[in-house]
Amino acid sequence: MKSGLAFLVAPLAFLGVVAACPFALAISVDRLNDQEIALLTSTVKALDPLVAQRKKAGTAPLLTFEELYAPLTEGQRAFLGQIRGLDPSSTGGSNRKLPAPDPKTEFIRLDTQYLPRQAAEAYQRMMTALETDLGKRLLVESGYRSPAYQLYLFIFYMPKHDYSIRETNRFVALPGFSEHGSPQRQAIDFITPQGISGEDRPEEFEELQEYGWLLARAHEFGFYLSYPRGGPSAFEPWHWHYEAVE
Ligand SMILES: [Zn+2]
Repeated sequence: MKSGLAFLVAPLAFLGVVAACPFALAISVDRLNDQEIALLTSTVKALDPLVAQRKKAGTAPLLTFEELYAPLTEGQRAFLGQIRGLDPSSTGGSNRKLPAPDPKTEFIRLDTQYLPRQAAEAYQRMMTALETDLGKRLLVESGYRSPAYQLYLFIFYMPKHDYSIRETNRFVALPGFSEHGSPQRQAIDFITPQGISGEDRPEEFEELQEYGWLLARAHEFGFYLSYPRGGPSAFEPWHWHYEAVE
């Protein structure tokens, strides 16, 4: 079987179409091979102008797969397809598959971030209460990120994690597995107006008076802590998700 596959793949690799071929070997999860690294590098480079332009316009989080794939070659699209098709259980990730965004979802823009209308309104109500109780507010550091933008972020961060899908997946969710990309369970990463996000040191956010307030009252507004201390995933005191209240 192995030699049969090699027989099929070798001549196709020679033609440079191996990534687009249905017989292509599975992507290397522990570390990309040289050919995959070259594809990743060329894909990120090809997407640079699009992402820069969308970041400038503040619309990067709404990127669609159609827009993401437009500047790419067939080989680059097939490479992204392989990442997109990964199951986190094979990469050490424990995230569960979340409902894909409904294309009719209405997003509200908050500065540089987006939230589905229901979550945005719940966030505003919660901030009014926080302001009444403590005279403070929390800002949205990261709200909605489309699955296509999540896919881009995943490959963008791979070089920082030595081209290891497994290692990157410890820090960046695969598309379809992030609460940031699922309006039915929309996540918000909070940050204080002074810039405390806790991402370098979770204790910094945990020690905030605002965090204690969220623990006591966020559920009244439909927000829940997704990754509590001592859970199976790393503690993320800044990451709360919204569950629509019927
Ligand atoms: Zn988050």
